Amino acid sequence: AKPKQKKPEWLKVRLPSGATYEKVKATLHDLKLHTVCEESRCPNVGECWGGGTATVMVMGDTCTRGCRFCNIASEKRPAPLDPDEPRNLATAVAQLGLHYLVVTSVDRDDIPDQGSSHFAECITELLARTPSTILEVLIPDFTGRTDFLDKIGLANPAVIAHNIETVERLTPTVRDRRAGYRQSLEVLRYVKQTYPHIHTKSSIMLGLGEQEDELLQAFRDLREVGVSVLTLGQYLQPSQWHLEVKEFITPERFAELQAIAEGMGFLYVASGPLVRSSYKAAELFVAGLVK
Ligand code: SF4
Ligand code: SF4
Repeated sequence: AKPKQKKPEWLKVRLPSGATYEKVKATLHDLKLHTVCEESRCPNVGECWGGGTATVMVMGDTCTRGCRFCNIASEKRPAPLDPDEPRNLATAVAQLGLHYLVVTSVDRDDIPDQGSSHFAECITELLARTPSTILEVLIPDFTGRTDFLDKIGLANPAVIAHNIETVERLTPTVRDRRAGYRQSLEVLRYVKQTYPHIHTKSSIMLGLGEQEDELLQAFRDLREVGVSVLTLGQYLQPSQWHLEVKEFITPERFAELQAIAEGMGFLYVASGPLVRSSYKAAELFVAGLVK
C-alpha cells in the first residue's frame, strides 16, 4: 500500500526518455541484472541512465536485515549466492558501456564471510573486463570485520561508500538493530586509513526528525574519519509499513546544508530532495576526483 502523505511539488520528476536511457534500459532487461534504480523506483533513473550511470545489486534480492526505511525483502536465510554472478555481471556490464557503475549488495549475515569474498570477486571481474568503467561500491558494514573489509579494499574500486543513513540518535529506530552509527564510522575510518588512495563516501537521508545540531555533528564525524564525498537526500516512505516522513526539507535548505558541508572540507557534496546515494555519481569523475 502506498503511504498517504502528499508530496510537495519539488519531488515530482519528469518521465525518463532519451536514446542512452533507452539503450541502458533495454540492455539491463536483456541481461536480467537487478538494478537498485528500478527496484527502488528511483526518481532519477532518466538522468542517471541517460548519463551512463547505474546501480546494480549483487548477492541476491533478499537481505538478512530489516531497516525500517528500506524496501528490500528480508529473510533470515535468503537463497545461496550464485557463484557465476561475478563473471556474468562483468559480461553484462561490458555490454552496457557505462562510464560509471555503482555496485551494492544486500547484507548477508547468514554467510560465514558475510559475502565479502563474493563481493570482492565481483569487483575483480568487473575491473578486469571493463577497466574504463569507474567503479564505486556501496558496501555493508560487514559487522566491522576488518578482514572482510580488506577483501573489498584489496580488490581496489575507485570509491568505497558506506552509508550512515541518519544521525546517531535516530540510528536505532531507522536502521536494523545490527547496524550501528559508531560501527559504520569505524568501517569508514578503517577503509580510509588502510587504503588512503580510495575515496570514501557516505549518505544521509533527511526528513526523519533529525535536528540541525545532530546533522552537523554527523558531518563532523564523517570528516573526522576521512570521508570526502557526502550525499544528502529526502527520505521518502516506500509504503505505509515503513517509517513515516517527519518533514519535507525544502530545496533551499538542501542548498544551505550543501554549503555548510563543503565548508567542512568534503571534496564533493550532492544535496537535494531527489539525491540518492548513487545520484549522478559520475560527477565525481567530472569533478576530477576519480580517474
Ligand atoms: Fe535495506 Fe541495506 Fe538495511 Fe538490508 S541492510 S534492509 S538492503 S538498507
Ligand atoms: Fe540508479 Fe542511484 Fe541514479 Fe537512482 S540515483 S537512478 S539508484 S544510479
